[in-house]
This record gives sequence, C-alpha cells and structure tokens, in this order.
Amino acid sequence: MRLVLVGPPGAGKGTQAVRMAERLDVPHISTGDLFRANLKNETELGLEAKRYMDAGDLVPDEVTVAMVRDRLGDPDTEKGFILDGFPRNVAQAGSLGEILADKGLALDAVVQFEVDDEAVVQRLLGRGRSDDNEDTIRNRQQVYRDETAPLLEHYADQLVVVDAMGEVEEITDRVFAALGKG
Ligand code: AMP
Repeated sequence: MRLVLVGPPGAGKGTQAVRMAERLDVPHISTGDLFRANLKNETELGLEAKRYMDAGDLVPDEVTVAMVRDRLGDPDTEKGFILDGFPRNVAQAGSLGEILADKGLALDAVVQFEVDDEAVVQRLLGRGRSDDNEDTIRNRQQVYRDETAPLLEHYADQLVVVDAMGEVEEITDRVFAALGKG
C-alpha cells in the first residue's frame, strides 16, 4: 500500500506510522526523521534544515522534495510506503504526484488524523524534542492550518478520516478499519 498520513503536530502520526508499517510490511518514511538524522550527522542538508526546524517553519520545498524523491528511489519502496509528514503543502503534493506518475504509480489513500489542538500541546510538551517548546509548537500548528490543511481538499477523493484521540492500539484499529483492512 502507498499511504500518506496527514494531521497536526502531536496527532500521533509517527507512532501510528511505525505500527502500520510493521503490519503492512512497508517502509515508514518520515521527513522529520530524515531531517533529524541529517542534523545529527551534520550533513549540508541537515545544517540547511536546522533553522527552519528550530522555528517550526517548513524547510523549503526544493530541499524537501529532492530528499523524498531520493528516498522513493530506494528499492524497499517498491512494495509500498507510508509517508509521514510529507507532503506538507499543496506544492509538495503536486511534486509527489509527479514522482509517482513517473513510476506509473498512485497513492492508495491519504489518512487524516483528527485531534483536538489544545490537548496535543500538552502531549508535545512532554515529548522533550528540541523543537517542542511552546512557541515552536504554536507556530507548527499555525503552519499546519495555513499550509498543510489545504491538502485535505486537494486529496478529498482519497481521504480517509480517523479520530486520533484515544489509546494507541484503539487508534491503530480505527485506521485499519477505515482502510477496509480491519
Ligand atoms: P515532524 O517530525 O514531521 O514534526 O517535522 C519536524 C520539522 O521538520 C518540521 O517542523 C519542519 O521544519 C521539518 N519538516 C518535516 N517534514 C517537512 C516537509 N514535508 N516539508 C517541510 N518541512 C518539513
């Protein structure tokens, strides 16, 4: 299966993506994780991404799309993939569409994680990541509303909406049920 996960910061996409990837036996591709790995290894890409990540802003599309195109060229993605945190705006969605179309492929579904904004701020503050201070979190939420939420309309035909408040196991069950694989 080729899936995209969309939801505001702290919606639990990463947690669910890991569980879904295991069950579907496809790679979990998180652009946030890829950027953080680059940052840790002090690559040029990581150093370029850092200031955007620190502010909670989107890393420029050019950089992000090139990184994803590269990753989707790896043979392990031939059996499918779960994209977590990409695309983050309509332009990135267009680029993803082109990358897949070049391979004669399309997405199977876009899973939208629905959560209560205020409830997740507390969850994020407890996570301890360096970009998880309150100002950055609020900015990431604003960026989500302004840039990422319009994706939901872009993907209206493929959208599968899941209530993402509750226990981890319960939410995984909801996702697979919504995908018709319950
Ligand atoms: P995440 O782990 O998905 O919360 O991403 C952490 C940070 O990485 C974001 O706040 C952005 O700065 C950057 N990032 C992750 N994915 C993308 C993307 N698709 N486009 C631009 N920036 C991204």
